[in-house]
Amino acid sequence: MEQLKDIIKQQGEALSNEVLKVDTFLNQQVDPNLMEAIAQEFFLKFQDLNITKVLTIESSGIAPAVFTAKAFNVPLIILKKEQSSTLNKEDVYSSEVFSFTKNKSYQLFTNKKLIKEDDQILFIDDFLANGQAVLGTLKLLENTSAKLSAIGIVIEKSFQKGRQLVEESNIPIHSLARIKRLDKDIIEFID
Ligand code: 5GP
Repeated sequence: MEQLKDIIKQQGEALSNEVLKVDTFLNQQVDPNLMEAIAQEFFLKFQDLNITKVLTIESSGIAPAVFTAKAFNVPLIILKKEQSSTLNKEDVYSSEVFSFTKNKSYQLFTNKKLIKEDDQILFIDDFLANGQAVLGTLKLLENTSAKLSAIGIVIEKSFQKGRQLVEESNIPIHSLARIKRLDKDIIEFID
C-alpha cells in the first residue's frame, strides 16, 4: 500500500535493526484518514470471506481494527490483557502469549458470549513481528468453534519469524507494508 509506505518513510523511526517507531500515525497518535484507507484495503482483499467479526488485541491494533470492522459492517472484539473483574473464570476464553519485545508472557481474555460458533473472524493487528500475538489468538479460538478466516497486518517485519509461522498455519494473510530490513534510520520494503 503506497500511501502507507510513504507515511512510514516520512514519519517512521527505525530505532534499531528490530524496532520501528510509528507513534505519529498509528501507536500514540492516529491518522484517521490513513486508518480509513487501511480498512478499505482489508475490505477489498477479504470481502468474499463472509467475515462476521473483526478481532484484535488491546491496544495498538484497535485503531485499524475499528475502521476495518466499520468497513465490513461487523462488530469488533478486543482481546483483553487483564481479566475483567465483572466476569468469572468460567465465563472467559483465555490463552497465553509470549512477548519477545517485553520478554515476558501475558494472558489474553475474552467474554465467551462474544464469540459464536459460526463466527468467521478477521484478525487485525498493527505489527507482525514474531507472530506470538497471532498464535495466542489462534490458541484462544481453538477453545471455540469459530474460525480464524484471515489475518490483516498493517506493518509486517518480514525478517522476523511471524510471517513464516502464519504461513505454516495456512490462514490467508495480507500485510499492507512488508519491511525486509531495518537499521538505525534505514527502512527497506519488500517491493
Ligand atoms: P508479535 O507477537 O508478532 O511478536 O508482536 C506483536 C506485537 O508487538 C504487535 O502487536 C505490536 O504491538 C508489537 N510490536 C512488535 N514489533 C514492533 C515494532 O517494531 N514497533 C512497534 N511499535 N510495535 C511492535
